[in-house]
Amino acid sequence: MRLSPRLCGIAAGCLLLLACAAAISSRLSSPMVCRQQDLTRIPDDASFLPKAQPADTEQQKWVALTFDDGPSKRTEEILDILKEEQVPATFFVIAADNNEKYLPILTRMQAEGHQIGLHSCTHDYKKVYADTAAFWEDIKELKKKLAPYVEDPSALTWLRFIGGSTNTISHRYGGSNIMKRLKQQAEEMGYHTIDWNVCAEDAAGGHPGAETILQNIVKDAKEKDVCVVLMHDTKATKTTVEALPEIIGWFRENGYQFCTVEQLPE
Ligand SMILES: [Zn+2]
Repeated sequence: MRLSPRLCGIAAGCLLLLACAAAISSRLSSPMVCRQQDLTRIPDDASFLPKAQPADTEQQKWVALTFDDGPSKRTEEILDILKEEQVPATFFVIAADNNEKYLPILTRMQAEGHQIGLHSCTHDYKKVYADTAAFWEDIKELKKKLAPYVEDPSALTWLRFIGGSTNTISHRYGGSNIMKRLKQQAEEMGYHTIDWNVCAEDAAGGHPGAETILQNIVKDAKEKDVCVVLMHDTKATKTTVEALPEIIGWFRENGYQFCTVEQLPE
C-alpha cells in the first residue's frame, strides 16, 4: 500500500505527538519533589528519644521545624512568619530547575539564624539513587549551586535523604542496600543525617488543608519530648504556610523550645 504525502505527514505528526506524550509521562513518573507515597511516615522514632535526665532537672522539650524541597515561591512567606514569631527552623534545600531562581533567598535564611541542610540537587530519585557515586555527585552539584548564596558551603554538613533514610524507592535504581551504604558513607565523610518523627503529610499529591496539617502534627507530637517536624516548602504547600502560625502556637503552648536541627540535644 502506498501512502499519499498528506497521509505520511499526518502519520509523522501522530508519531511526534506520541513521542512528546511519552517524554512528559516519563518526567511525571520521576518526581522532582517528595511525594507522600514515597515517604515513610515516621522513619525512625528511636533516634529522637532524649537521654534520661537526672530526676532533679526539669525535663526540656524541644522542637525542630524542618522544611524540605525549597527554596520556592513560599520561602519568603515562611521566613516572614518565623521572623514574626522569633522561631528558628531548618531548610533541607534542593537546586532543581524550578528552584534556582529562589536560591538567593538562602542568604536571608542564614542571616536570620536558620539552618540550611542538604537534600538533593535534582531530587530525581532515578538519577540520585542510581548508585552511591551518583548520589555524592548530586550532593557536590548541590553545594556548587548553593555556594554563591551561603557563608561557607563546607559548613553544610547536615543531610536529609530524599524520601528519608528508610525509603524503598531507591531500591529500584540502586539495589536493596543502597541506603545502608549511603548512611555509612555519609558518616565516614563527616555528614550528619536526620529523618523526622512528626509528619505534616503535606508532601506533593496530598493537598491537605491547614487544619488537617495542624492535626497531623499534633497527633504525632503529643507525648514526644523531642520533635523533628517534616513540612515542605514548594509552590504547592500554601496551606502549610497558612497552618504555620498555629503550629508554632501549639508547640509554644505545650512548653517546647524551638531549635534548629544542629541545636537539638544529642
Ligand atoms: Zn524532598
